[in-house]
Amino acid sequence: MTCEVQTKFLVVGAGPAGLALASFLGQNGEHPYGKQRYHRRYPESYIFNPFAFECLRDIGIEDQGLQHAVRGRTLQTMRWARSMAGEEYGKVLGFSEHPSCIGHTHGITPSEYAELSQSELEPILLRYASHHSFHVRFSTELVDVAQFTDDTGKHEYICTIQDLISHGTWKIRTQYLFGADGARSNIARSLDFKFISKPSSGKACNVLLRADLAHLMSKERHAALHWFLKPDRTTFRAERPELVDAVRDLMGDDSVDIEILRVDSWAVHESVAEQYSLGGQNAFLLDDAAHLHPPAYGLGSNTCVQDAYNLAWKVAYVSKGLAGSRLLESYTKERQPVGAMLVQQSNKGLAAQVDVWQSVGMFESTPEDGSRQLAKLSQATPEGEASRAKVRNAMELVGEELQSWGAAHNQWYVSTAVYLADEEGSRPVLDGNPIVDVEISTYPGS
Ligand SMILES: Cc1cc2nc3c(=O)[nH]c(=O)nc-3n(C[C@H](O)[C@H](O)[C@H](O)COP(=O)(O)OP(=O)(O)OC[C@H]3O[C@@H](n4cnc5c(N)ncnc54)[C@H](O)[C@@H]3O)c2cc1C
Repeated sequence: MTCEVQTKFLVVGAGPAGLALASFLGQNGEHPYGKQRYHRRYPESYIFNPFAFECLRDIGIEDQGLQHAVRGRTLQTMRWARSMAGEEYGKVLGFSEHPSCIGHTHGITPSEYAELSQSELEPILLRYASHHSFHVRFSTELVDVAQFTDDTGKHEYICTIQDLISHGTWKIRTQYLFGADGARSNIARSLDFKFISKPSSGKACNVLLRADLAHLMSKERHAALHWFLKPDRTTFRAERPELVDAVRDLMGDDSVDIEILRVDSWAVHESVAEQYSLGGQNAFLLDDAAHLHPPAYGLGSNTCVQDAYNLAWKVAYVSKGLAGSRLLESYTKERQPVGAMLVQQSNKGLAAQVDVWQSVGMFESTPEDGSRQLAKLSQATPEGEASRAKVRNAMELVGEELQSWGAAHNQWYVSTAVYLADEEGSRPVLDGNPIVDVEISTYPGS
C-alpha cells in the first residue's frame, strides 16, 4: 500500500527560494512541508543586496547573515587581466568603492551590500524555518504531480515523491504547491507554466578548484570578479590534466598546486514565466523556477528572498481566511515584471562583458591575430589610442552592472494589493537611468 501524507503547503526545493519561503511562511504561523533532492555541493551566488537583507531583518536573522558574510570596500569590483599575476587591462569599481555609489545606502536602506554565499545563507534560512515547524525531507525528489478538484470544488495536488536512499515512493496531497525547484523545474513543466523565451546565446562552464593563491592576492588585485583574457590562447579542453595546466596559466604561476573539485557546464538562458501562478489554482513558481538568465547583475538569490517575502504573507492571509483568494493574483502582477527585467538586464550585462572580451582580441580568428590585437593596446599610435578607447568604452558599459542600485531597488508594484484610492497624484516619475539611479519615494507600492 502506498503511504499518503496530507499537508496544506508543499515546498519543492530547499535552495534559497524554498528555504526563504518556508521561513516567511513560518513567520506568519504556517507550517509547510518541504522536499529537497540534494544538499548543495558547490558555491553559486554570493552578492547579497541590502533589500534582501531587509527581508532577513524582518525575521530577525540579518545579523546572522552579516556574521557569515564578507563585508568590505572591494565588493563587486571587477578587473580584467592577462592572468592573476599578469598585466591588468582595466578595473571597474563596484558599489562599495565607486564614488557615485558610496553613500547611497544611507539614503535608501538601513542594510548593506555584502558577500553572503548561498552555501552560508541556506543553513541560516533552514535553521529559522525548521525552528518554525518547517518539515524538510532531504534526499527526496518529486517525480510526478497530478491535480484534481474534489466535489466541493476544492483544488488539490497529489505529488509522487521518491526517496533517493530507500528508492521507495509515496504520495503527498497538498492544497498549495510551490515550485522552488530551480532551473529545471519539474513543477513548471508538469503544470505547463508558459514561458517567454529567446534562444540560448551560448554555453559556459564552472570549474570549482582548491588552491592557495594568497601570494598572488596583493591589495591592488582585490576584486570580486577577475576575468583573465588571453587572446593568444583562446581555447582549452575542460579535462584534466590539460585543465590544471590551463588554470595555472590563468593564475600566471606554474608552481601553484591545483585541485579540481568539480566541473559543471551550463547554458545561457533568457526565459521568464508569463505567470508565476496558475489562474484560480494554488500553484506558484519562485525564482530560478520562474526565470532563467546568466548570473550577471547578481540578483538571482536576492530575488529568491524577495519573491518568497512577497508571496508568503499573502498565502498565509488567504489560508487563514483573512483575505480573499484574489490577493494571490498580485504575486504575479508584482513579481513577474521584476523577473522579466532581471532576465533582460542580465543578458544585456553578459553582452556588455562579451564586448570587453572582443575589444582585447578574444574573438580574432587565430591566436596570432589575437596577439596582434592585444599588442595594439600598448602602441603609441592613433590605432593604439582607438583600441584603448574601445576597451575603455566596453568596460564602462559593464560598469552599469556594478552600479545598478536602481535595478535592485526600483521595484515598485502596481496591483490590486496596492491601495491608491486616497492618493492625490500619480507616482513620481524617476528622473534618470532606472538601472543605476534610485527613486526614493513613499508612494504606495514602492
Ligand atoms: C556561477 C553563479 C553565480 C551566481 N551568483 C549570484 C550572485 O552573486 N547573487 C545572486 O543573487 N545570485 C547569483 N546566482 C544565481 C543564484 O545562484 C540562483 O538564482 C539561485 O540559486 C536560485 O535559487 P533557487 O532556490 O530558485 O534554485 P536552486 O538554488 O537551484 O535550488 C533548487 C533546489 O531544488 C532542488 N530540486 C530540484 N528539483 C527537485 C525535485 N524534483 N524534487 C526535490 N528537490 C528538487 C535542487 O536540488 C535544488 O537544491 C549565481 C548563479 C551561478 C550559477
